Amino acid sequence: MDIERSRVDTATADILIWQTGYRLALALITGLVTIALRTLGTLQLSPVASRAIGPDRVDVLMGVAAVLYAALVLLIRSVVRRTRTADRTLSTLMVAADLTVVFWLVFLLARPQEYFVGLFLAFVSLQLTHVYFGRASALLMLAATAVAYLLLNDIAGRHGDPVAWGRVFVTLGIFGAGALLLTLVQSNLQERLDTLVSIFQKAEEGDFSESYDVAADKRPDAITSVGRAYNRMRTQLASIVSTDPLSGCFNRRGFELQMRRELARAARAHTDVALLAIDLDHFKLVNDTHGHLVGDRVIAEVGELLRANARTDDVVARTGGEEFMILAPNTSFDGAQLLALRIVEAFRRRVFVEPSPRIALTVSIGVVADHVPSETIAEDLRARADEALYAAKRSGRNRVVRWSAGLDALKLGQTGERSIAARGVRNG
Ligand code: GH3
Ligand code: MG
Ligand code: MG
Repeated sequence: MDIERSRVDTATADILIWQTGYRLALALITGLVTIALRTLGTLQLSPVASRAIGPDRVDVLMGVAAVLYAALVLLIRSVVRRTRTADRTLSTLMVAADLTVVFWLVFLLARPQEYFVGLFLAFVSLQLTHVYFGRASALLMLAATAVAYLLLNDIAGRHGDPVAWGRVFVTLGIFGAGALLLTLVQSNLQERLDTLVSIFQKAEEGDFSESYDVAADKRPDAITSVGRAYNRMRTQLASIVSTDPLSGCFNRRGFELQMRRELARAARAHTDVALLAIDLDHFKLVNDTHGHLVGDRVIAEVGELLRANARTDDVVARTGGEEFMILAPNTSFDGAQLLALRIVEAFRRRVFVEPSPRIALTVSIGVVADHVPSETIAEDLRARADEALYAAKRSGRNRVVRWSAGLDALKLGQTGERSIAARGVRNG
């Protein structure tokens, strides 16, 4: 939530910075047009404003308001630039200043029966506020607009202009209902767009677990269609992105995702997880003897063989050229070792690429199993499985080696290596 909040604050900061130019330009244009029209005598001061503050002081007050507004805009920009973040206080202050300027101008220049112009201008800035600063700011602005409109009419009433309160309230009612309706519709759109964005962001990371809840859209629209289209593609995309086309197993990306998911599950359920690191023995020879195409067919068949020997819950992945991994959830060391032995045995009974060249292959497997204290064990598990695999290679290939704490030390001693070089399972 904090990360989300700070993301919103950074976005608000960016928006406030780029809007500075527009605010200043708009203020400048409004000021110049007003001065021009006042000089030409076309723009009369509102009689109410005349009576309330005196005709001579109006131009001065307009100038002061313009300078104050510009100063505030620049001040907010410099604060935001320095801190690179803007919470709701700053955006609310900015929007309040906009609204004040709008109603100030309306008060000075419009006659009471034209005060609805203020509502019209506020309606436009309300929509922009919603787009850029969100629903809460928009609703706040809506309430402030209603207050400002009533206040203007009240001032007019006090300064000798009888107010038709009935009309005022009808006008305000129409404005309020319209603005509220648009705000609600727009926030619903925004929320659903945000949902889609978050689903797409997950998909970008290869996580297709979430689908768009089409049924929740009571009044389906274009966003619903996008959601529905995504749901249709989801399964297909998931398998394209996370599957290795050659072997039909998970690819590295898919494996990492599945591993994260399984480890999280195992950590919650306090169960063991086993990992097998599998590498084909002397595979280079296959390529050198029969060519790459045959090598590729062998890899495809190996993928099939591994999946056939694993359980449905196991995650079988091709993590490198002729390297595979199997993640076996809820599996002890002994269970994992049985699986590994079954695979070694399956290779022994199998010849690859029928009817020719019928290649016999062996495989080396490193096995590790552990309880899962947290997802962070992933790297450690992989390192240990690899360590066991290399021990299997060093000690003669075509075998299963269980990881154990002293395994690494064997790298150093040739005698140690030889001592585990017999075929079958070794404990390091
Ligand atoms: P060992 O693992 O027993 O030490 O020997 P190796 O010959 O299998 O070892 P290494 O890892 O050095 O070589 C792997 C070879 O696998 C290298 C490359 O020719 C082959 N290879 C890797 N990826 C592919 C692939 O996608 N297709 C084919 N045809 N061959 C591949
Ligand atoms: Mg190899
Ligand atoms: Mg290899």
